[in-house]
Amino acid sequence: MTATSALAHTYHPLPVTIARAQGTHVWDTDGIEYLDFLAGYSALNFGHLQQGVVAAAMDQLKRVTLTSRAFDHDKLEEFANRLAAFVGPLTTGGAESLVIPMNTGAEAVESAIKTVRKWGYDVKGVPADQAKIIVADGNFHGRTTTIVGFSDDPVTRDGFGPYAPGFVSVPFGDVDAVAEAIDDTTVAVLMEPIQGEGGVVLPPDAFWPTLRALTEEHGVLLVADEIQSGLGRTGTTLASELWGVRPDLVCLGKALGGGIVPVSAVVGRRDVIEVLTPGTHGSTFGGNPLACAVGLAVLDLLEPGQYQARTVQLGEVLAERLDQLVEAGLLQAARTVGLWAGIDVDPARGTGRDLCGALLERGVLAKDTHGSTIRLSPPLSIVQPELEQALDLLEDALRSLAPAEVDVDA
Ligand SMILES: *Cc1c(COP(=O)(O)O)cnc(C)c1O
Repeated sequence: MTATSALAHTYHPLPVTIARAQGTHVWDTDGIEYLDFLAGYSALNFGHLQQGVVAAAMDQLKRVTLTSRAFDHDKLEEFANRLAAFVGPLTTGGAESLVIPMNTGAEAVESAIKTVRKWGYDVKGVPADQAKIIVADGNFHGRTTTIVGFSDDPVTRDGFGPYAPGFVSVPFGDVDAVAEAIDDTTVAVLMEPIQGEGGVVLPPDAFWPTLRALTEEHGVLLVADEIQSGLGRTGTTLASELWGVRPDLVCLGKALGGGIVPVSAVVGRRDVIEVLTPGTHGSTFGGNPLACAVGLAVLDLLEPGQYQARTVQLGEVLAERLDQLVEAGLLQAARTVGLWAGIDVDPARGTGRDLCGALLERGVLAKDTHGSTIRLSPPLSIVQPELEQALDLLEDALRSLAPAEVDVDA
């Protein structure tokens, strides 16, 4: 980027300009090859230019790409039905689930917020404009004005008020705090099963099952934002499955678009989503033919379960190596689930960005989330030798950051 660039300064990217990609690799404008260990924040779960997804997109590009929802098209119901059949049974909506097709993740979250509020007024009998939604400290649900209003990250939130009322934030993983926050106006609990942007933060094991029981008991809807955690990343189709929990609604996004177009959705209970009637919600691009074709190709990849299975297997390799780096004192902490890890660098060695810079020099693309924390989320299509190579390079990068006096001891 040049000093005179017209690009708004909303990002501070690492110094690499990508020109080409295939599978787990990208090449910069000088032809230098990198392993992609961010995978578009999990939007590229199946790697770059996955053959089946590209073929489906190309095929659709020759037929019809956009109709608007004013008219039906021949991929819309198929996409909704297949997504409901695949993800619905992982929610309390079961195979009868409904699907709201949208585009970006933030739109899926906004759609879920609208749905649970309307359910609160129409079904639960909450007085007008009193609906309350409980969220978690450290959350990340997107960038709209409503959503950033219930973030507790000052960089994300500050300066964008006035903020929408109706949200109460409690410590992530603290079910007693949720219980205390619930009252007659509470319509839903909205949380990420595992906080991705927060640094792959896992709640205590009892949290999700207890929260499920609590919300059921109080007639409060449980909404899981699986936009980053879902669709194979954790070795299961939904992260909620790790705790045997079925949310009432799930938000999907990122990987649902196969790395090609933004595709998001809310999936879950028919009786809840049915509160939306014609005209009450919509999107010009939501459920467009190209998005549906791509989404269907993504379902083709996920339905057999092979991506999930290999993610479990390779996740063990990842966890073991990261734990070794912690034991060796090269990392302060590592949290791994499936092919997803949050690693904390000792601030004395450098920031997360310093480590990302050292990784970049060694041919690995990764991104810090905040401070000294980096999220690793390689494509689920990665093969073990690539994973091991990247972990060797991570170890080398960490050693290069070591303070001088530690180097002498080593
Ligand atoms: C990325 C993300 C979003 C927002 O998705 P966009 O497509 O960027 O709007 C929402 N929730 C979670 C958990 C995410 O990781």
